[in-house]
Formats: sequence, structure tokens, C-alpha cells
Amino acid sequence: MQAYGPVTAATLGRLAEIVGADGLSASEADRSLHARDQGFYAAHPPEVVVWPTSAEQVSAVMQLASRERIPVTPWGAGTSIEANPIPLHGGILLSFERMAAIVAVHADDFQVTVQPGIGHRDLNAELARHGLFFAPDPGANASIGGMLANNAAGIRTVRYGAARDNVLRMQVVLADGRIIQVGSRSVKQSSGYDLLHLFVGSEGTLGIITEATLRLYPILEHISAVVATFTAVEAAVEAVVAVRGGGLDPSALEFVDAASIELLNRNAQLGLPVGPTLFLEFQSATAQAAAESIRLAEEICRELGATSVSATATAGERRRLWHARNAAYEMMLRAYPGQRMFINEVGVSITTHPPPLAFTPPPAGER
Ligand SMILES: Cc1cc2nc3c(=O)[nH]c(=O)nc-3n(C[C@H](O)[C@H](O)[C@H](O)COP(=O)(O)OP(=O)(O)OC[C@H]3O[C@@H](n4cnc5c(N)ncnc54)[C@H](O)[C@@H]3O)c2cc1C
Repeated sequence: MQAYGPVTAATLGRLAEIVGADGLSASEADRSLHARDQGFYAAHPPEVVVWPTSAEQVSAVMQLASRERIPVTPWGAGTSIEANPIPLHGGILLSFERMAAIVAVHADDFQVTVQPGIGHRDLNAELARHGLFFAPDPGANASIGGMLANNAAGIRTVRYGAARDNVLRMQVVLADGRIIQVGSRSVKQSSGYDLLHLFVGSEGTLGIITEATLRLYPILEHISAVVATFTAVEAAVEAVVAVRGGGLDPSALEFVDAASIELLNRNAQLGLPVGPTLFLEFQSATAQAAAESIRLAEEICRELGATSVSATATAGERRRLWHARNAAYEMMLRAYPGQRMFINEVGVSITTHPPPLAFTPPPAGER
């Protein structure tokens, strides 16, 4: 196979013609800032970082790179933990930091069209003014492009699905620079090949997402959280099955093990009982429905042996809970200074959760 081509002084000149002199950098600082994600894997700096501002610029960069066989790696927010935004073969790193605009809010269609670099939290802060939100939430302030490329999931997947289930249409730039549209704003999309979902989860290997139309949901007025502590992982898993089987539809769900609860208590002063714990969130249209969800969830958890169940309907308390969950990774890093964290994701069905969780070894510092 032909080797990759280098980024030469002539390449830098041609890139500057495409994105402008301030649209690229080959400085040591910028290259090392984009050399690794938040995971365990070794750093590989790109030869140049490029910040395009339009799909046309991305297309021109791809044509140049394709002609000169220069590898290109897209970069959203670099929060991946599986090494996929690391430019393993050097080349051009395309950062979407400057393509982070909301193109249009189609409020009555429950849709929004965005550029790929916008963070999902920043997007949701803006959408709140319309009473709407984009559901997938991987914890970190990931970019929409990175979330679609990774098919990100998270605490809300239980009700709203992953990124794949929340995108209707994308504009994609192919390796040869062609700009194509996949999917459509129509919710009914049953004819032809499903190219949209071929690109979702392809980690930037099939094309570069330069725009996406996302599915939105209304923010319901009554949101409450339930925290249930168990003595065994098995009981917590049974409670998840029973809650869902009982017709309750949590809008967010997270299992947190006893060691992580201790960490959250220490760092975020949550004051939770230590044990395998479920965080459940319910969104309802009426206060009565919200109260009923909490009552049923409490009843189910207690029946299945929860030693403590508490509910909160205040926004501040809920935010504190989810904020602590989302900050757990940084808390772990701080708890073991100088150590690298190896994060791995294991996908199993709900009922097969207990064995892998029981196998989880203690943190490296404690072994
Ligand atoms: C504390 C923490 C918790 C996390 N929890 C979860 C979780 O619960 N669930 C989950 O799914 N993930 C989780 N993640 C991982 C990460 O946040 C997600 O994978 C997220 O989707 C990465 O988005 P990003 O913008 O940071 O993308 P990056 O890390 O920059 O890139 C990810 C991939 O997308 C590609 N890419 C980026 N932009 C584009 C584009 N415009 N077009 C094409 N390809 C592109 C990159 O080349 C790379 O392959 C977590 C990470 C952290 C640090």
C-alpha cells in the first residue's frame, strides 16, 4: 500500500489559501493540544491543525489531502476515551471549534439544524429558551459532530435512545471532497438505502459531518429524581427491570457502584448512603403524574430491598446529583495523581449486568 504523504511547506501554503492564515497552526502547542483524547492511549500529534469555517472549506481541504495522500482526522471536543480522534498517522487534524453555530431552530417541528462543533450542553442552553432539548447526554460537553460520529449514548439512552436515534439529516463531506446530504427533515424516511445511519457511528472514517438536523423533545415542567441504595448489585438490576416493566419510563437512569458513591460523597458532599445505587429521573407533564412516578419507583425499589430511597423535585438538587455523576471521572483522576486511567465500556443486556460489575477490579491505587 502506498505510504501517506507528508505535510510540506507547500501544503501549508495551499491550506492557508483555503482557510486563511489564521485558520491553521503547525505550532508545537496546538499540535500537542490535539494529540490525545481523554482516554488512556498514547499521544500522536498531527502535523497541522486546521480550523475550517464552512463545508466548502472542508471540501477543499479533503480534495487537497486526497490528492496528496495526507491523512485527515476530524476532532470535535476531544472527549472520546477510545483514541479515535487521535491523529495516529500525523497529517491534518480538522477541528470544528469554529463551526459551532445553530443554523436554524425548527421549533414547531421539534428539530434543530446545527454545525458539528457545537457542544451539546451549549446547544441545550440555547434550546431551553424554546422549551426544547436534545436528549443524548454522554456526560462530557462533547460536540454534536463527535457524538454522531461515535453514536454517543449516556444517562438518557434508556428513554430517548443514542445519538443514532436523534438525528434526521446530515451534510457530509466525503474523502474526495464531494458534499452530500443524507437523510431528510421528514420523520418518515422509509425509502432507499439508510446512508444516514451508515455515517452515524463511523468515527469519521467514512466522511466528515459538516451539518446535522437533530430531533428534539419538549422540556416537561415536572422533573424529579429518585436515588435508591441497595445492598447488592443484583437487587439494583432487578429494580431497573421492575421499574421499566411496571410501565414507568425514566428519562434518565444510571447505576453507580459503592466505591464511586464514596468518591462522590468525598468530593461533592452528596452525603449518600454507600452501596450499589440507582439514580432515576422522571419527567412528567403534570404534578400528579410526577408524584405518581416517584411513589411507584419508591415502592418498587423498597420491595426489592433498597435500604434507602430518597426523592427530590428541586432543580438544584437534581443538578447537583447529575453534575457529581458527570464529574466522577475528573474526581477519580484527582484521587490518583500521576496515574493513568484505563476506561473500558462493556455492552451487555440489563439482566446480565451483575457478573461484569462484580468482576470490576479495585482502582489501580488500591491494588
Ligand atoms: C467523563 C466522560 C464521560 C463519558 N461518558 C460517556 C457516555 O456515557 N456515553 C458515551 O457514549 N460516551 C461517553 N464519553 C465519551 C465521549 O464524550 C463521547 O464519545 C463523545 O461522543 C465524543 O465527542 P467529542 O466531540 O469529544 O468527539 P471527539 O473525541 O473529538 O471525536 C470522537 C470521534 O468523532 C470523530 N469526529 C469528530 N467530529 C467529527 C465530524 N464533524 N465528522 C466526522 N467525525 C467526527 C473523531 O474523528 C473521532 O473519531 C465520556 C467521556 C468522558 C470524558
